Amino acid sequence: MKVHLTNAEATQNLGVALGLFLNPGSVILLEGDLGAGKTTLVQGIGLGLGITDPIVSPTFTLINEYLEGRIPLYHLDLYRLDSGEVTALNIESYWEGIEFTPGIVAIEWSERLTYKPNSYFRIYLSNTGDGARFAELNPYNCTIKQEILSKLNSQ
Ligand code: ADP
Ligand code: MG
Repeated sequence: MKVHLTNAEATQNLGVALGLFLNPGSVILLEGDLGAGKTTLVQGIGLGLGITDPIVSPTFTLINEYLEGRIPLYHLDLYRLDSGEVTALNIESYWEGIEFTPGIVAIEWSERLTYKPNSYFRIYLSNTGDGARFAELNPYNCTIKQEILSKLNSQ
């Protein structure tokens, strides 16, 4: 599914739809260049979940956890990591549901993952060439809920 995002608010709204309706245990793998809108989308997820803490880029902290919303949000950014470091982080513990309460796991620079969950949403953000963005949303081993599609169609 390909969506045209005219401005940053549209990117955020896509995130809101996901934050409102995704099930606990959902993993979102975000891909796209620096400045493509990955963090903006995760900020929308935070809004949809009802998180009032500001969602800031975890480029230096690697992982930010937000526990005040409908379900937890685990926000990761792998930009600064090499594959050995990614493997050592045991990121799977965020989606396995044993060590951490199941929530939404959103991973920026997920191209760097050395392993993937069984099911996930891949969102690829790119420039349209005229200042806006495209989002390509592909579910792997899962489906996009009707509620999310309806919310996107109503925007
Ligand atoms: P990334 O995390 O991918 O590096 P950011 O989310 O930090 O990117 O966004 C970079 C810039 O792009 C921000 O100024 C943001 O407001 C802007 N932006 C996000 N989505 C859009 C869009 N659809 N159209 C125009 N600008 C956007
Ligand atoms: Mg970012």
